Formats: sequence, structure tokens, C-alpha cells
Amino acid sequence: NRSRPANKIIQPDFKFEDMGIGGLDSEFSNIFRRAFASRIFPPDLIEKLGIQHVKGILLYGPPGTGKTLMARQIGKMLNSVEPIIVNGPEILNKFVGQSEENIRKLFAPAEEEYREKGDESQLHIIIFDELDAICKQRGGRSDNTGVGDSVVNQLLSKMDGVDQLNNILLIGMTNRKDLIDEALLRPGRLEVHIEVGLPDEKGRLQIIGIHTLKMRQNHILNKDVDLQELATLTRNFSGAEIAGLIKSASSFAFNRHIKVGTMAGIEADISKLEITRDDFLGALTEVKPAFGASEEELE
Ligand code: ATP
Repeated sequence: NRSRPANKIIQPDFKFEDMGIGGLDSEFSNIFRRAFASRIFPPDLIEKLGIQHVKGILLYGPPGTGKTLMARQIGKMLNSVEPIIVNGPEILNKFVGQSEENIRKLFAPAEEEYREKGDESQLHIIIFDELDAICKQRGGRSDNTGVGDSVVNQLLSKMDGVDQLNNILLIGMTNRKDLIDEALLRPGRLEVHIEVGLPDEKGRLQIIGIHTLKMRQNHILNKDVDLQELATLTRNFSGAEIAGLIKSASSFAFNRHIKVGTMAGIEADISKLEITRDDFLGALTEVKPAFGASEEELE
């Protein structure tokens, strides 16, 4: 595991097609242009331009669209130290009274390494999942404990400190951008905002391709399954819902291969397991998109 300084970060062996993420090409190129391109400039050019590296990104959009997958892949792409992932509610609830201390601890390894190695330090990524849980209480809108306030204040002061460090990248994730304290979204903090929305048909085809790859390699998908047709039929599905649909179709196929025996319990003969178009049609009656009705339902 080679260490790579925070200002020379792009991992040379990284391939986009190996990421296992479908339909987010433009989001990735946006992130790259807006948040990372400057990191591959030579340091003297950065000095001539008089700019600072982007230290924080917000990924927002509906659940199950691949935000967590993206955040992890960003870590791989940038050859960072293994990203630390923290969850908003966990910070608030699990360690009541210690939330501020927890925030401080999150930043400590990166701060220490920067003190020792300066710009030669490896990049540290801190991912805040469900960031809105920490933020929405500031000002006492939904609870009066004041915990949210002090955590956000601590986070803000840490973020301002990050300005002096080139080896930290913060990634916030949320389904509710509208609930995030504006102060966290200002320049110098989580300043690049990337919307990760529901996939379009082309994106859905890519996601279906990714999640059926093993089945196709192992010849478990019947020839009557048309991936393009599935992409058309899954309008308004998120990536997670597409993964759920494929799992559901497999369960219909398993069902044909299971015999309930008297003494031996359940037996399964999976040697001829095949998933057919009908299994997918069955799954489509079972797995529905949470956001937006499908086209047929609108008619
Ligand atoms: P949440 O907002 O609920 O945390 P999220 O946007 O972070 O959701 P993920 O946790 O990244 O969503 O996705 C959940 C699962 O759904 C993934 O592990 C993956 O199996 C599948 N998935 C979601 N989006 C994609 C995608 N774009 N490409 C491939 N798989 C996807």
C-alpha cells in the first residue's frame, strides 16, 4: 500500500469501469473537474493561481442512488488512507455528551500526519453519512437538547482548521440538502455540491449490467431476459431498487427449485437454476420505486 502525497493524488491504476457504479459518469466528471483537478496541478502552479484545494464535497439526492458507493470509490481513486465513515445519528445518539470529542477525534489522525509530513502526508477522507441528522437541530428547530448546535459548531471550527491542511477531504451525504445548515455549505467548507439523482434509462442499463454480471458470466440468465427491456421497465427505480429487483427475480427462480420434503426439510436442486423474463416480471410486481410512480401507473 504505497503512500501518495495529498497533492499528487490520482491513483494511476484506477479504472472507472472497475468501480461497479452505473449511470453516474457525468457526476464523477463533475466532481473531478470541480474538486480534484487542482490536486494534479504542480504545486507551483497552484501557488501562481493563488487557489486553495477543495476540502469538502456534498453529495445529495434520493436514497439508494449510489452516494456511499461514490464516496468510497473517491477514496480509491485518490489513493487515500481508508476513509473514515461516520453516521450523523450515531454521532448524536451513541455518544451523547461526547459528540464534540468524537468530532475532534475524527480529524486528529490527519492533523497529526500533516504536522509531521506537511504536503507529503497521504490524503485522509472523512465521510459524513446522513449529515442532516447532525445539522437540522441547530437553532433548536426539532429538539431542545442543544446537542446538534454544539456538534455543528465543533464541525464548523474543525472545517475552518482544515483550510490550513492539504491532506483532508470531507464528504457529506444527505437525502435532504434543504435541512443542512447553510454555514456548512459555504466556500472553504462543503463547497462543491453534487446532485446524485435517479438514473436515466442508459444509467439503469449500466446498473442492471453490473448487478447481473455474475449471473451472465455463470450462464444463469435465460436468453429471454432482455436487459434493455428491463432498463425501460424500471423507470424511477434507484440503483438500490434495481439491485432489489434482481434479488427478487432470483428468489422467484429459486422457488421453482425448492422442494419441501417431509423429514429432510427443505431441499434445493440448484444445478439447473435459471432466471427467466417471467421471474423479472414477477419481481416487478413486488419491487416498486419509492420515488415517483412508474409510467404505467401515471396513465
Ligand atoms: P442512502 O442515501 O440511503 O445512504 P446511497 O445513495 O448512499 O443511499 P448506496 O448505499 O450507495 O446509496 O447504494 C446502496 C446499494 O444500491 C449499493 O450498495 C448498490 O448495490 C446499489 N446501487 C445504488 N446505486 C448504484 C449505482 N449507481 N450503480 C450500481 N449500484 C448501485
